[in-house]
Amino acid sequence: MKKEKEKVSLVMCRDYGSDRIMASVRHSVDLLGGMHLFVKPGERVLIKPNLLKGNPPEDAVTTHPEVVRAAIRLVREAGGEPVVGDSPGIGDLRRVAERAGIIAVLEQEGVALAEFDEVVPVKGVGRFQRIVLARAAMESDAIINLPKLKTHGMTTLTGAVKNLFGCVPGKRKVQWHFNTGVDHASFALLLVELARVLKPRLTIMDAVVGMEGNGPGSGDPRAIGATLAGCDPVAVDAVSAVLVGVQPDTLPVLKAAHAAGAGETGMENIDVLGAELSAAIVRDFRLPPREHPTEWKLPEWMRRRLKDALTTRPVIDHAACVSCGICRNDCPQQAITGSEGGYMIDYRNCIRCFCCQEFCPQGAITVGRGWMLKMLG
Ligand code: SF4
Ligand code: SF4
Repeated sequence: MKKEKEKVSLVMCRDYGSDRIMASVRHSVDLLGGMHLFVKPGERVLIKPNLLKGNPPEDAVTTHPEVVRAAIRLVREAGGEPVVGDSPGIGDLRRVAERAGIIAVLEQEGVALAEFDEVVPVKGVGRFQRIVLARAAMESDAIINLPKLKTHGMTTLTGAVKNLFGCVPGKRKVQWHFNTGVDHASFALLLVELARVLKPRLTIMDAVVGMEGNGPGSGDPRAIGATLAGCDPVAVDAVSAVLVGVQPDTLPVLKAAHAAGAGETGMENIDVLGAELSAAIVRDFRLPPREHPTEWKLPEWMRRRLKDALTTRPVIDHAACVSCGICRNDCPQQAITGSEGGYMIDYRNCIRCFCCQEFCPQGAITVGRGWMLKMLG
């Protein structure tokens, strides 16, 4: 029997006006059949936005509060009991949510903030052992995933699958970068396996204003003008990649999903409902520098020798650095040293996880390319 195509909805929305966002999110979900298909009366529903760090909504670092409000209202209309939770990369959840404009929405809507400080061990996350996840995520009846579409130094884009990594509490995220080490494919597979375990019932992506350039924490806001929704986070990521001009099969997370048979990555197997995708594509979306695919065709001995020349790497802009020490304290490899006088990265120890670039509050760490990558173009 022919497999039914995966469905992802795409609705154009030009700004974050409360009524406009409500209409756009509602239409995105209605195109899939309506929220009552995803939430049953009385269910406890965790709404999981991207709360990476405490920036105001206009910085486009976090899921916009009006998108969170729309999700809360739709869950309530379906009879569910929403809570909103995440575990930021840096900073205390409440403070981050306050700066991101989420606390004001929660107070207006009478919804609780779920801290991810209690954890539960989880078995069967693919080949990954000793995973613990937030109890609030594992014990909710349903998860609604609310990613923001942004660039990412390590995974090129961050969206639906990567947003669920926030269910790994606090600093344990950094530990997983350490465990998977230089093997970025292994980290991408971890993300895919986590998505399989967490099984969000629905993803609603905020791509009204996304982030381009030095994302996910310090890039530039970029109008994309859409909300997307789908049951399969992998398919939502595939469609959102096309939306910003990226071929899905070049993204590490989607490559890992395809290899693991998790979700749908092939655009030929995805029905995009609503707006015309080809007409909505943002053609000049700025990505972070990427590793060139041809590098991995070199023999292993040569690749090892040329590691620095062939990989992207974090680069500190010393003029922008304020010597706060966050990158040094959070580096899983302790590859960053320094004090007031200046910070340095030891590239021999660096595993290119880009946690430092993600967390630097000044945007003083960017993604640079080794000399051979520059030559490859
Ligand atoms: S986190 Fe950024 S500002 Fe702070 S020391 Fe590192 S590079 Fe400098
Ligand atoms: S220096 Fe940055 S990219 Fe390198 S291991 Fe440390 S946190 Fe990761």
